Amino acid sequence: MPRKLVVANWKMHGNLASNKQLLEAYIQKITPINNIDVVVCVPYPYLAQAQSILQNTNIAWGAQNISKDAVGAYTGEVSAVMLKDFGARYVIIGHSERATAYCESDENIATKFAQAKAHGIIPILCVGETLIEREAGVMQMVVGKQLDTIINTYGAGVFANAVVSYEPIWAIGTGLAASSDQAQSMHEFIRGKVAVLDKSAAASLKILYGGSVNPQNAVQLFVMQDIDGGLIGKCSLNAQEFEGICRAAT
Ligand code: PEP
Repeated sequence: MPRKLVVANWKMHGNLASNKQLLEAYIQKITPINNIDVVVCVPYPYLAQAQSILQNTNIAWGAQNISKDAVGAYTGEVSAVMLKDFGARYVIIGHSERATAYCESDENIATKFAQAKAHGIIPILCVGETLIEREAGVMQMVVGKQLDTIINTYGAGVFANAVVSYEPIWAIGTGLAASSDQAQSMHEFIRGKVAVLDKSAAASLKILYGGSVNPQNAVQLFVMQDIDGGLIGKCSLNAQEFEGICRAAT
């Protein structure tokens, strides 16, 4: 059975002192769990701190966004190469909180995904539907279109060893997680969509579930066939809850 992957998304939380405490608690509680992969995606200014505290542990770190460009006059942007300077191995791409607040198009997201891959950073691509779209029954069409923008430009092979996180927008930060059947059904759809075009890419693709995962619902979600782990927001800010979720992944 492939190793599960659990990713903490700290969003715009933390400061030097609280991060130190939280990362040290992660080291104490989570590093002894050695049959899963754990990543913490921190705000940019704290990448150096994550690197200095987590290096030589089995917890990897990453960022929450990346520029679609490699270098140049792009004020406020951070490139893949810059992330690599701080040892970042992963980057979240297309999180719905960014896609809505900063008007990120599917095309921009696709370019960011390719940038990460080109520089050896593992992209964690977020996809998912709104509540209205789910109620209208068009969730697979919506997620399919998000994936198609990447597939049509770069081919399905680009998903080899990448990560897709299914994050229904109605479940993020609401306390209302998708049921394990709802999540499994979308994960199966995502893997199937890639598999039709590239079987080996689909087999190496990790598909995470994100949206109000907590230590209580994690086991039911992670036990599903196509759920390879989770992207965790709120509960990653509490070391004990995050540990509970990581243990559920074992
Ligand atoms: C997220 O924002 O990626 C997320 C999953 O948040 P939460 O766990 O708080 O719903």
